[in-house]
Amino acid sequence: MTLDFDEGDDLRDLRAAVADLASRYGHSWYLEQSRTGGTTRALWDEAGKAGFLGVNLPEEHGGGGGGMVELSIVLEELGAAGCPLLMMVVSPAICGTIIARYGTPEQRDRWLPGIADGSLTMAFAITEPDAGSNSHEITTVARRDGDEWVLSGQKVWISGVDVADAVLVVAKLADSAKGTLRPALFVVPVDAPGLSRTPIPMELVSPEHQFQLFLDDVRLPADAIVGSPEAGIAQLFAGLNPERVMGAAYSLGTARLALAKAAAYARDRRVWGTPIGAHQGVSHPLAAAQVEVELARLMTLKAAWLIDTGADAASAANSAKYAAAEAVVHAVDAAVQTHGGSGLSQETGIGALITSSRFSRIAPVSREMVLNFIAQHDLQLPRSY
Ligand SMILES: Cc1cc2nc3c(=O)[nH]c(=O)nc-3n(C[C@H](O)[C@H](O)[C@H](O)COP(=O)(O)OP(=O)(O)OC[C@H]3O[C@@H](n4cnc5c(N)ncnc54)[C@H](O)[C@@H]3O)c2cc1C
Repeated sequence: MTLDFDEGDDLRDLRAAVADLASRYGHSWYLEQSRTGGTTRALWDEAGKAGFLGVNLPEEHGGGGGGMVELSIVLEELGAAGCPLLMMVVSPAICGTIIARYGTPEQRDRWLPGIADGSLTMAFAITEPDAGSNSHEITTVARRDGDEWVLSGQKVWISGVDVADAVLVVAKLADSAKGTLRPALFVVPVDAPGLSRTPIPMELVSPEHQFQLFLDDVRLPADAIVGSPEAGIAQLFAGLNPERVMGAAYSLGTARLALAKAAAYARDRRVWGTPIGAHQGVSHPLAAAQVEVELARLMTLKAAWLIDTGADAASAANSAKYAAAEAVVHAVDAAVQTHGGSGLSQETGIGALITSSRFSRIAPVSREMVLNFIAQHDLQLPRSY
């Protein structure tokens, strides 16, 4: 018998240690940073020093030697305590995974120890204004000029470029011999000449910001390309399943926060002599969301475990991301309703969760693109596009 749903002492201790650290900061602190132009740097640094940010990265490069199970647990617990660190989705999960698996020894030495302890942050840029969800149609091109690469193009919605040291940019290699384009990954320092950025005003109450990036003949050394130019697609996909799992973990943390706040309020608040939580109109939406959260957690851990065992995790990672996004949207909606007018006051911080939960349905991959994937791969249904 091998099936075992007990997380075990090590993972329980990890959850407890992260929750303990995050509770010293908390949701009020996170909201204050978000609303006053502050940052989560202090928490990021502490989490890095404690080994939480690099828990998935190889020990020989300063990581914890664990995998996506551990990293997703870290993000879930930070979110449940009210201070999710969005850059964990990109820096250790996508960029760290890709560089650890496909980077040259020099690239691993250069980037991984810093990504692991949080002293270096790497953003990730695939989305483009015209291509949108259709990342096959990206038009950022890398061409070779002597010993250098030259990148030109645009990216949009790129998170955290202002706090990053470099951006892992997905471009297409111009293969002049064959006249074809194929994806490749480049590490672009944020201060590279020719790279500029414009912040995008967002409705999110979050300390991380999104940017449009302009790559105007950005010249990079030959070793800026990660891994093999021949295997760009495989390398890219190695980062996208971890991204989906971390998207799910982000949603789960927020959903737990919303439900904890709502349940506490519903146990306490009385308007007809009994706590409002005694009314099934209040308790059932919260209970239904609790069920959804538990189901999404199971699928998130399964997807993370599949990634860590080297198995095909695509359906599980997409399913986890879908389930967690639906769970957080329903949990936050029920939490707002439970709080009545207080649900939209800044004091409770519940209203701030509306846009952050809603964004879970859109990024890093939209609900519809997840359903397209499941329809095609799990149900063998034809593509409509
Ligand atoms: C807060 C935030 C942070 C982000 N951070 C990053 C980042 O750090 N790096 C990065 O590269 N990107 C980032 N993104 C981009 C994100 O991954 C994209 O927004 C997302 O993939 C959707 O792409 P789009 O916005 O272009 O929507 P579109 O592709 O224009 O889609 C619009 C709508 O049409 C639907 N649709 C499109 N095609 C189909 C189809 N074939 N079938 C059915 N429905 C379809 C979509 O599901 C969606 O509902 C971020 C986005 C947000 C909102």
